[in-house]
Amino acid sequence: GGFADGSSGGAGGGGGAGASSGGATRSSIQVAVRLRPLCEKERLRGDRAGWASERDGTVGLVDPNTGAFTPKHRFDTVFGPEAGNSDVAGALALPLVGPALSGVNGTIFAYGVTSSGKTHTMMGTEGDPGIVPRVVRELFSQIAAAAAAGQAGSSFIHGCSPCPSPAGPGGPRSFSVRMSIMEIYNEILNDLLDPSRANLKVREDARSGLVVVEGLTEQPVASAEQALELIHRGDHNRKVSATAFNEDSSRSHTITRIIVESTPLQQPFDAAAAAGADPPRPVGRRTTACLCLIDLAGSESAKAVVSKGQRMEGSYINRSLLTLGTVIHKLAAGAAGHVPFRDSKLTRLLQPSLSGPGARVAVVCNVTPAMGQSDETANTLKFAARAKLVQVTARTNEVLDDRTLLRRYQKEVADLKRQLAEARR
Ligand code: ADP
Ligand code: MG
Repeated sequence: GGFADGSSGGAGGGGGAGASSGGATRSSIQVAVRLRPLCEKERLRGDRAGWASERDGTVGLVDPNTGAFTPKHRFDTVFGPEAGNSDVAGALALPLVGPALSGVNGTIFAYGVTSSGKTHTMMGTEGDPGIVPRVVRELFSQIAAAAAAGQAGSSFIHGCSPCPSPAGPGGPRSFSVRMSIMEIYNEILNDLLDPSRANLKVREDARSGLVVVEGLTEQPVASAEQALELIHRGDHNRKVSATAFNEDSSRSHTITRIIVESTPLQQPFDAAAAAGADPPRPVGRRTTACLCLIDLAGSESAKAVVSKGQRMEGSYINRSLLTLGTVIHKLAAGAAGHVPFRDSKLTRLLQPSLSGPGARVAVVCNVTPAMGQSDETANTLKFAARAKLVQVTARTNEVLDDRTLLRRYQKEVADLKRQLAEARR
């Protein structure tokens, strides 16, 4: 425990997003603020806590001398200095795993200035693993539970017991999981599972609705252990590449993408099938979803970066982050106008997760309580307040079958022919 959660529905309830398969449900983006403890470095330089949170989700300024508290913002979910990664993951990340198994995309961002606690939140430590390893473990334990439910065979089919499968009441399903780890630095997208694959291109795949990164390693994983090994490899490559190119990792975005495909298993033989009347047929739909877990570049102002004498890199690195801010601002305003998803690699990659069919989004806004970084904390809280207003739509991704896809293309060709004929007239 140890965190204040103002939402009566409990943090796990998020914005009340409908995770079930079927129609679209409006829901807010889930925004949490994580106020870490003062760190050793801050203490040593004599910094003191100038920000604090209360159990009802209020975050405000605190006078280190008198302890007087001035409320500034209120959020549904606020994690104080005592909160651990299990609290954060349990409230924000693990609730996205079940929906992903039934085809609903999930995205989690860690936002904040450098050293605010983003990487601690996403990766964590051996003793207190972060969101990424916890999501991986949860995913495979839910898959194992679903498989066990499927093997319960007849009782499952005959409906004697409630279905514990996260895949819902559609019958037994099989799952396959693929994992990618990538980095965006200076608007260049690199593969962290295979560093020889650099500067990769992004495009949208009409069939799955997913965004495809050309040439990116998508490693099939069969167990949590295999996935954790890949996470370790990605982390290692990130550090090596940062050193090799004299890069500052605080200016790169690290994206772990887990793609989950769920396929209905064939129904077991029943009497009619055994008599040869009907071959067993798959029940339910095939779904695919991706879980994107993102450790963003530091959100410190461009000025801070320029003052380090790295103007170019600063302006480049900010493109993805600035565009993310603009996109969130536009979505929050609810305006029907143009949302500039295509202006940066990061927003292109995330477009389906932020606006397309299937979307559950959580943002952990990390802040330090240190007075020395009070302005940055105020900025991050402003970002958090704005992000809270975004509406996303949760819906199941259905993989289009060939016939549907063909029909769609035929219509597109017909439209293009018509346009061409009109242009020639
Ligand atoms: P960022 O990735 O935002 O630059 P880090 O996650 O590397 O920041 O955190 C900076 C330092 O603060 C690290 O030493 C980290 O271990 C520590 N830290 C961050 N968040 C917490 C927390 N919630 N509890 C304890 N230590 C933390
Ligand atoms: Mg970091």
